[in-house]
Amino acid sequence: MAQQYILAIDQGTTSSRAILFDLQGNIEGVAQQELTLHYPHNGWVEQDPEDIWRDTQAVCRDVLEQSDVRPVQVLAIGITNQRETTVVWDRATGKPLYNAIVWQDRRTAELCQSLKKHESMVQQKTGLLLDPYFSGTKIKWILDNVPGAREKAKRGELAFGTIDSFLLWRLTGGKVHATDVTNASRTLIYNIVKQEWDSELLAMLDIPRSMLPEVKDNSCLFGKTTADFLGAEIPVTGMAGDQQAALVGQACFNAGMVKSTYGTGCFALMNIGKNFRVSKNKMLTTVGYRLNGEVTYALEGSIFSAGSAVQWLRDGLGIIKAAAETEALAQSVPDNGGVYMVPGFTGLGAPYWNPQARGALLGLTRGTTAAHIVRAALEAQAYQTQDLLRAMAEDAGAPIAEIRVDGGMAKNGWVCQFLADITATPVLRPAITETTALGAAYLAGLQAGAFTSLEEIGKGWNCEHRFIPSMPPETQQKLYAGWQHAVRQVLA
Ligand code: ADP
Repeated sequence: MAQQYILAIDQGTTSSRAILFDLQGNIEGVAQQELTLHYPHNGWVEQDPEDIWRDTQAVCRDVLEQSDVRPVQVLAIGITNQRETTVVWDRATGKPLYNAIVWQDRRTAELCQSLKKHESMVQQKTGLLLDPYFSGTKIKWILDNVPGAREKAKRGELAFGTIDSFLLWRLTGGKVHATDVTNASRTLIYNIVKQEWDSELLAMLDIPRSMLPEVKDNSCLFGKTTADFLGAEIPVTGMAGDQQAALVGQACFNAGMVKSTYGTGCFALMNIGKNFRVSKNKMLTTVGYRLNGEVTYALEGSIFSAGSAVQWLRDGLGIIKAAAETEALAQSVPDNGGVYMVPGFTGLGAPYWNPQARGALLGLTRGTTAAHIVRAALEAQAYQTQDLLRAMAEDAGAPIAEIRVDGGMAKNGWVCQFLADITATPVLRPAITETTALGAAYLAGLQAGAFTSLEEIGKGWNCEHRFIPSMPPETQQKLYAGWQHAVRQVLA
């Protein structure tokens, strides 16, 4: 029999990727398309869902062609995606009513503020806080602001989905309207304790139930693609939001294990086991994964700007030409020269949760160079992570033993070492850094019979580099205190 593969679709904020894995979890091919982000107003972030669909099809076709793999050799498809990003479409035509409102979008900040009295109820049911980040207030915005939308929704003519759900709808030719539980857990309307869409939350946001997708386990038969997508009907058998997929790809299957992903944003997730628990330190509680109906929960710290700070250095400030240049530049100066960057471009996430905050560069002198600013942007990632780890360790009542890192920025060895130094915790970088896509492939492969258990998957996880903390504690404390001072100034 011809060799078989699993195709992972990784639809991220800045790009859409298709990655072909063999049944041992090795990468056979990668195809990628950059995705355009639109910023129509201050704090608004949108994407065209048709761009997302076009690019997704293109990268899937490209990766098969490049790898010389025939569609019938694709055993299954796994989907992972930027979470919370919201699409509302017409069930009859399949056409979106409005652009996708991206997770970073802050347009519903006032609405969230006006609902603050419900925050404790929201947290007890969803594990989330009232922040524009999540899908619920974005759905309400579309229903309230697109002419005719609310009437159509009341008549049951509209469908809501996060990107996974939108892609699944398109891949199945409009046959399946479903999502997985990790994506549902980020909508603000899904009760993660009872595992159901929540009537009280739907009423709070005035969202009709008829718009909602069916919620499924992360590993199950979601549907089959139409034959004209790739030339054969292929089952979609795995789906998870990007951060939860990375948790699986990093094999964080035991309580206390932590992964931190450095892409556009930075997201640290800690497996907390089978029991739902609300954070006392402004972390989120979320579904890590659900297999055979059994939920594993995670604590999450979400930082909105990580790699996007590097993108801003390139595209906004123009002091670098490519992200990879930052490593040598940061190393070219002995220290940060007193410069701190607080990358609050779209507000501050965990643990501050301030949608109105904006970014800042502090401590500039006539001696400040581009290298100091680059270094400050990279250092900020370690300080932000330390904010999260402190909060998580307090919630967990135990220090964090190690951090498994991935994402575009984890390629930067300087960032990984500085992270180990500031957090005083070993940082482990895996051999396969495409952990998000790998997680989607594992989930798809579990259902399709390529993998038998999480234990088997865990055994296949390999460390490529272990970064050991080596900074003197006084230096670490002084640097982190400088960051805390900078954040206080931004929040003031
Ligand atoms: P996403 O999945 O959110 O689209 P990725 O995981 O692909 O993001 O990571 C891309 C981000 O990583 C970009 O914002 C880019 O600026 C940053 N990045 C990529 N390589 C490096 C590097 N060597 N050093 C620092 N940042 C990097």
